[in-house]
Amino acid sequence: MTPLARQLARRIVAAGPISIADYMAECLLDAEHGYYCTRDPFGTAGDFVTAPEISQMFGEMVGLALAQAWVDQGRPTRFTLAELGPGRGTLMADILRATRAVPGFTKAARVHLVEASANLRRVQQQTLAPVKAIWCDSADDLPGAPLFVVANEFFDALPVRQFTRDPHGWRERQVGLLDDRLSFGLSAPAPIAALDHRLGDTRAGDIVETCAPARPVIQAISSHIATHGGAVLIVDYGGWHSLGDTLQALRAHQPADPLATPGEADLTAHVDFEALAKAAKDVTVSPMTRQGVFLERLGITARAQALAGRLSGTTLESHIAAHRRLTHPQEMGSLFKVLAVTPVGSPPLPGLDP
Ligand code: SAH
Repeated sequence: MTPLARQLARRIVAAGPISIADYMAECLLDAEHGYYCTRDPFGTAGDFVTAPEISQMFGEMVGLALAQAWVDQGRPTRFTLAELGPGRGTLMADILRATRAVPGFTKAARVHLVEASANLRRVQQQTLAPVKAIWCDSADDLPGAPLFVVANEFFDALPVRQFTRDPHGWRERQVGLLDDRLSFGLSAPAPIAALDHRLGDTRAGDIVETCAPARPVIQAISSHIATHGGAVLIVDYGGWHSLGDTLQALRAHQPADPLATPGEADLTAHVDFEALAKAAKDVTVSPMTRQGVFLERLGITARAQALAGRLSGTTLESHIAAHRRLTHPQEMGSLFKVLAVTPVGSPPLPGLDP
């Protein structure tokens, strides 16, 4: 048993089974044993690889899309350039490098990072030095200025609850103990008003997921953008109107049992983009667009060809593989989706036109 498994078992003995959301929250962010608080999980030596860790081209495309939105909105002379869940800080570093060529952008930007892990904050500081970033605990803490913000693989780390449809209502999927081992179980059935809108498209046995923590984040950011201007670019895996169990654990790049090693595997769930879009008020929400399509529209292939001209041998091969991985429908190109929020009346973000 991992130390966190023992801690969770004591909690369950004392107070009963816990929701999947409580389980995810402790596994990811427990201050002493949580996954993001105890390690640097990214890259080939870690558990998973994110788009900015695959190639600098991802951050370049994202940076130029945000910079175009900044130009389209009249080049505000002071604005917040922010990232939610910046991991190692690689994406923000690539955004800052790519946008140096956009006159006035870097000088006007104040970099803010919303990060829960003290451990990863230190890694981000090292990656971004000498740039002085400001760290925030939540999107609510971002200052009152135009806000241009990216969230790549942030929302998938937010805890979800799972409910199974039952002839008598909904039963919540929980984590309890069976023979001293963590195990999944179901609560007693009950009607749940917040899931009434799912009665039309589900049948007995179907699982639906809700992600309560995503809502206040989207609300804070969209009300910020409605008031002060700006744009948010959300990139993640998932789809529109999610259905089914998407809880997954990854360890050393392999799928793992989510209950086997709490605190030592990454735990995520697919993002329901419809729920994000519905929570954004008084702003324009872009069409949900596949990552491959978005990056192609922004010119990633021309950029890949330009970079390829300077490479040879194995570095050229891995560069070609990285381009494919980011864009190909059988790799990240279709599973990952992009959604943007902009002020009503502002031009759409490049690559996300209706
Ligand atoms: N965007 C990065 C890393 C994604 S991993 C990349 O593309 O490489 C998820 C990131 O979100 C990590 O930095 C993690 O510590 C952070 N995170 C997870 N839950 C969070 C929360 N509730 N509040 C703030 N940051 C969180």
